[in-house]
Amino acid sequence: MNILQVTGKPELARVYVASLRNDPTNLVEFVDACSPALGDRLKKWVIIISSQLGCPVNCLMCDAGGGFRGNLSSAEMLGQIKVVIDGNGLDPNACAKFKVQFARMGEPALNPQVATALRELSGLYSGVIPCIATIGPKESRHWFSELLTVRDLFHDFQLQFSVNSTDEVWRDVIMPYPKMSLGQLADYGQSFYRPGQRKAVLNFALQPGWPLDAVGLRRKFDPKYFAVKLTPTNPTATGRENGLELNEDLGAITGKMEEKARDLEQQGFLVIRSIGELEENRIGSNCGQAVKSFVDRMAV
Ligand code: SF4
Repeated sequence: MNILQVTGKPELARVYVASLRNDPTNLVEFVDACSPALGDRLKKWVIIISSQLGCPVNCLMCDAGGGFRGNLSSAEMLGQIKVVIDGNGLDPNACAKFKVQFARMGEPALNPQVATALRELSGLYSGVIPCIATIGPKESRHWFSELLTVRDLFHDFQLQFSVNSTDEVWRDVIMPYPKMSLGQLADYGQSFYRPGQRKAVLNFALQPGWPLDAVGLRRKFDPKYFAVKLTPTNPTATGRENGLELNEDLGAITGKMEEKARDLEQQGFLVIRSIGELEENRIGSNCGQAVKSFVDRMAV
């Protein structure tokens, strides 16, 4: 792995861009973050890695889509984690909350090597909490059934479905890739739940035109097994090209989110308001942004 660029602030988030396989066009990005409120990686440390070179899904709001060049190997995924750990000189086993999120470039459920990486990860860092963020590709039934076994290697595991709308037609517009229906996500998420453990998270990026019907969601998803996360649509180049309303003003974001959150809470859901740090947008720590801006700069 050849590190080409590191941007950001250590006390918030650092974004790495690296090339793989001795090819300067095989680019990945990964993130080293800590909670600004805690400001200390030994209290909470989050490493967000890529699982593919580009992404075949092409979500409307994501810079990682397009230019898909295949899966990363387990070693290439674990290599991203090692670079971040070595860069900090800290021992993750001494960290109170150490999370590794497969949530950067790529759809993890399309890469069979993710299960291998997770198995190896469980042996490397005893308290690690993995997070898988997925649209739930239809073809990945075997992958999801294997995940039920892999999950049990960890004391805690976070599963997050990118749902984005309660309308199936809109889901296909936003995430133009064959995927499980809402009913199928509900069945799988329920089977993933372990009593006393965290619930699967249904993630919605908020856009004025994307239907999010709280009552309809409650009909399919039981709040006993699912929480909801609301995020603003972050200002990416792809989102801008697709004419999305990109929130850059904290007051406006909070107001719209509160309205939706109240509807969902009335239906019994635990709602996570993921406003994030506006500075993260400036750092370019949104999905696919770092590689895209790096490539754009190289092309000038
Ligand atoms: S949001 Fe995830 S699934 Fe969608 S294009 Fe980006 S990386 Fe791929």
